[in-house]
Amino acid sequence: MQFKEVVGQEIIKKNLIQGVKSQRVSHAQLFCGGEGSGGLALAVAYAQYLNCENPGDQDSCGTCNSCNKYQKLIHPDLHFSYPAIGAQILSTTFIEDWRAAFFENPYLNALQWVQRIGTENKQANITAAETHEIIRKLSLKMFEGPYKVLIMWLPEYLGKDGNVLLKLIEEPTDDTILLFVTENRDRILSTIQSRTQIVQLGILSEEEITEGLITRYQLPEVQAATIAKIADGNFNTAVSLMGEVENNFHEVFRDWMLACVKGQMGVVMGQIEEMNSMGRIQLKNLLSYGLYVMRACMLYNNGVYESLIANTSDKEFISKFARFIHPKNMYSFASEFNDAIYHIERNANPKITLLNLSLQVEKLFKIPAA
Ligand SMILES: [Zn+2]
Repeated sequence: MQFKEVVGQEIIKKNLIQGVKSQRVSHAQLFCGGEGSGGLALAVAYAQYLNCENPGDQDSCGTCNSCNKYQKLIHPDLHFSYPAIGAQILSTTFIEDWRAAFFENPYLNALQWVQRIGTENKQANITAAETHEIIRKLSLKMFEGPYKVLIMWLPEYLGKDGNVLLKLIEEPTDDTILLFVTENRDRILSTIQSRTQIVQLGILSEEEITEGLITRYQLPEVQAATIAKIADGNFNTAVSLMGEVENNFHEVFRDWMLACVKGQMGVVMGQIEEMNSMGRIQLKNLLSYGLYVMRACMLYNNGVYESLIANTSDKEFISKFARFIHPKNMYSFASEFNDAIYHIERNANPKITLLNLSLQVEKLFKIPAA
């Protein structure tokens, strides 16, 4: 993967390249950024650049022997570690799935990965056996070089066993680079945090997401711009929303909200069954769509709507729904939806989450505007 394939993050790309050019490459780095900001993609592009035989001022060459292997993720000095399912399981067990998942969407989240290799209710981990395997692999002689690179995706899945890596992090050999990619810095071992150089990613702008959808997926500009508004800085959400935006999210959402406004909890219970059958990933997208609708309603109420919302089927819905959303309830709406997304991502029971959300929403609709 080359830097040019990574969406946005231009300042960080520049800094990383500058570091290589001036031979100031830290041997243990922690890439921090929320889901969909591109930490994994960036780490792979950076590793490819570090090993490129003809690195340019802005990117790896993409054609040398090393780049060729990097682009297929088969370079013998490139190692990956990521959450996997099974006691004492090694990441390499799932390497074929891993490569396929990365090529499909390098912005994927943990839930999508776990669903791919098992069932969503199984707990994924980076096991003690895996940490020992990392030490063993990195102690091997280099095959091609110039660097042996370990990219660990989501060190937050590392238990206390992760501390066996500290010596490696503190005293890596000159030819070893460790890149940790986290979505949640607060949840990783403090011992690892304190021994790594932090690379803080920014939240992607709407323009960057629009541009990324157009170049990566050849999406028409209008559709890309609509998705970028809903995605809220998360390119993974944007990718999974493709094809959904023209779909029936607004119908499902409209019917649900209407039942909540009327307090028809019997109807809501049936809707919850249907929404639950969508699966967690789509459910999360539906809730993200709900957040987008809330924001759009506020824009509509403030008369700045026309220029900002591109999609016509949404327009009609939002123009009717906007009267239910006002400054007295909108922040609570947003925080209830955000909480629900948080719970869905973390394996909470979707039906209970949706029921709680529906009850809260019903209450919020009753708050008078003035
Ligand atoms: Zn190259």
